[in-house]
Amino acid sequence: MNAVQPDRASDTRRARFAAAIDADWPYLEAFTLDLHAHPELMFEEHRSAGRLVDSLREAGFEVEAPAGGLDTAFVARHRFGPGGPRIALMAEYDALPEMGHACGHNLIATAALGAARALRGALEASGGELLVIGCPAEEGGGGKVLLLRAGVFEGVDAALMFHPGSRTMTIRGALAAARVTMRFHGKAAHAAGSPELGINALDACILTFNAINSLRQHVLDETRIHGIISHGGSAPNIVPDYAEAKFLIRHRRTEEVAALKERVFAAARGAAAAVGARVEFQEGLLYAERKVNVPMANRFAAHLEALGEPVLPAPAVGRVGSSDFGNVSQVVPAIHPYVAIVPEGVSAHTPEFAAAAASPEGLRGLRLAATCLAATAADLLTEPELLAAARADFGAPTSEGGTA
Ligand SMILES: [Zn+2]
Ligand SMILES: [Zn+2]
Repeated sequence: MNAVQPDRASDTRRARFAAAIDADWPYLEAFTLDLHAHPELMFEEHRSAGRLVDSLREAGFEVEAPAGGLDTAFVARHRFGPGGPRIALMAEYDALPEMGHACGHNLIATAALGAARALRGALEASGGELLVIGCPAEEGGGGKVLLLRAGVFEGVDAALMFHPGSRTMTIRGALAAARVTMRFHGKAAHAAGSPELGINALDACILTFNAINSLRQHVLDETRIHGIISHGGSAPNIVPDYAEAKFLIRHRRTEEVAALKERVFAAARGAAAAVGARVEFQEGLLYAERKVNVPMANRFAAHLEALGEPVLPAPAVGRVGSSDFGNVSQVVPAIHPYVAIVPEGVSAHTPEFAAAAASPEGLRGLRLAATCLAATAADLLTEPELLAAARADFGAPTSEGGTA
């Protein structure tokens, strides 16, 4: 089962972190509600990142900001002593257009902050280093992919974050995903007076959707291809000379996404050719599938259960999204557990979820998550056996839950 249970020392530390977070609670509650009240879109999280940086500096962390070439990224460090592992807590803090914090990233950021402040104040360790990595633009900008490329995660032995959700669970996969913007170019003409002179870019775009729908019958299970028309012309009496669609292409494995993407591109090229239009593609950063580190996930679950929060087993494959956390999980042992803040059936990216991210249930989840993040990070800093188990699981090509 790979479950290394917390020993008495770990239980004692968890109790100490719970007390530290209780003492810090008025501050943490005000902090997360403030982030919630001032949502910022990806790569524009200046106020949120600035508040986190100030708070970590006040708590005694050395903070590099900006970091990794991104204005709203940061890396905060605290060294407990020479040698030892380097453990990173990840904070996300971007919001969604029109909906604010409908993914609850205000809670993610504050959980990392609360855990870091508790660890800095209440962990006795002879060695090791704690990092808080401020990760912008999870909602489509691939902030963590860019930070990985910039080397921000180099030397990190294990990385942890939490995400609010509708079910408390610590082992859950996520799909690899490619983002593509398709730009169709045609030729404008008077739609009634001289339609024979026009090339209809919107028709090419609509045919692309139909061609992709024909593909669906011939793709592997667990494939998701979904898109919108983001530009469809400017007036009905003008033949559209430009149309634009945005697609996400997802599957459980990155290699399959790469293969699917080529088939989707071929569909769009064929559709464009059918009406004499031209298409070009702009690709976003690829989000890798999630690799779940089972020993770390089980330890986080043990802490949750010790605090009275039941943890659900890993779900059947499917019904998951994608995150740039997947890319982190491919290069370092990492966990992305969920703590419930809404009833089952309510999903993230909805107005209900945005409201929950500032509700008593959201605050309850935050308090649990901050305590368990601190406790699990402390275990990794002080128990070489746990880190060794995490490394062994990471190295294993497949494991229970690995790329679930
Ligand atoms: Zn989201
Ligand atoms: Zn999210």
